[in-house]
Amino acid sequence: MGTGTLKIDLDAVVANWRALDAMTASHVETTAVVKADAYGLGAARVAKALAKAGARKFFVAVAEEGAAVRQALGPGPEVCVFSGHMRGDTDMIHDLQLTPMVNSLEQLTRQIEALPGHAFGVQLDSGMGRLGMSPDEWAAVRHIALSQNPMLIMSHLACSDEPDHAMNALQLTRFKEMTDGIETPRSLAATGGTLLGSDYHFDLVRPGIGLYGGFPYQDAQNVVTLTLPVVQIREVAVGETVGYSNSWTADRPSKIATVSAGYADGLLRKLSDRALLWCGSDSCKLAGRVSMDLLTVDVTDLHETPRSLDILCEHQNADQLAEIAETIGYEILTSLGARYTKRYVEGHQ
Ligand SMILES: *Cc1c(COP(=O)(O)O)cnc(C)c1O
Repeated sequence: MGTGTLKIDLDAVVANWRALDAMTASHVETTAVVKADAYGLGAARVAKALAKAGARKFFVAVAEEGAAVRQALGPGPEVCVFSGHMRGDTDMIHDLQLTPMVNSLEQLTRQIEALPGHAFGVQLDSGMGRLGMSPDEWAAVRHIALSQNPMLIMSHLACSDEPDHAMNALQLTRFKEMTDGIETPRSLAATGGTLLGSDYHFDLVRPGIGLYGGFPYQDAQNVVTLTLPVVQIREVAVGETVGYSNSWTADRPSKIATVSAGYADGLLRKLSDRALLWCGSDSCKLAGRVSMDLLTVDVTDLHETPRSLDILCEHQNADQLAEIAETIGYEILTSLGARYTKRYVEGHQ
C-alpha cells in the first residue's frame, strides 16, 4: 500500500450531530453543513450517514456541491446553497431541487423570475460583511421576498468561536432587528453559535466543524485517523543530514523512517521539523522538510520498527496539528489530499 489511509468514523460524526442536537430545544432543527466535500471527509458518505440518523436539511457552499449531495441522498432531504442563485445555476437548482439562500436583490430577482414557486431562503448580513443582504437592502426588498414565502431567513456569526466576543451579541441584536415579527423560520448559529446557547438557536442550527470533531466543539468525538505507510527505514550517523536543504542533522546515531505523504497531500510545509507522528501512544518527530510526497521521521526512540505512523489520531487531532502549522483545523481537514484511500467506519454502535 503506497498511499496513506484516511479513516473516517461515521459513527462519531453521527454521535457529534446527536450531541449538538441534544444541546438545542426540541423545536430547533439541527441540520448539517457538508460544504467542501464535508470538510474533506466525503460529502456523499457523510450526508447519507446523517440522513439515516435523522438530518433533514444539508448546507453546501455552491450549487455544484449541492448537485453531488442530491445525487447521494436522492429526493427528500433539503439541500441548501449558501452562495444562493448565481448566474448559470438555474437549471441545476431546478433539476436537482436545490434551495438557494439568496444573497442580494439581484439573486432574489433571478430566483423569482426564473423559478417562481421554487423553494428558496434569504441570507442577511448581520455584520460579517461577506454574504447576504445588508440591513438597508433587506428593508427595501423584504416585502417582495416575504411575499414569495421563503423557507428560511439566515445570517452567520463572525466571532462565535470566541464566546465572550462583543460581536456575538451585536450580531444577535441586528439579526433580531431585521427579522423580529416575521413568521419565516430563522437561523443564526453554526457550531460556535450552537455552543453559545439558546438565544442564538432560533429555529434551525447549522453545525459543520463540530460534526467532524473540530474546535470550538471541544467535547466532540474524534472522527479522523490518518495513517501513513513507512516506505523505508535508514540508519543515520552523527553529522549526516536528512531532506531538502539539509535542514536536519543527526546529533546522535539515529533511525529515520521515510513515510509516504507530503505537502501534495495537504501536509503543509510549515510542519517541517516540528510536527509529531504517532506509533500507538508513542510520538516521534518530523526530521527535516516536508517534501511533495514524503516525510522523514526520527523513530530512533521507538521500541518497535513501525510499518506505518499516524499523523491524525486521538492523540493529535486536526486542531492540534493546525496549531503546529499556525493555521486552523478547518484548513487541515479541507486540505487533505486526493491520494489517500478513504475508509469509512460505520454501524459499530
Ligand atoms: C461554513 C458555514 C457554516 C458551518 O460553520 P462551522 O463553523 O463549520 O460550524 C454555517 N453557516 C455558514 C453560512 C457557513 O459558511
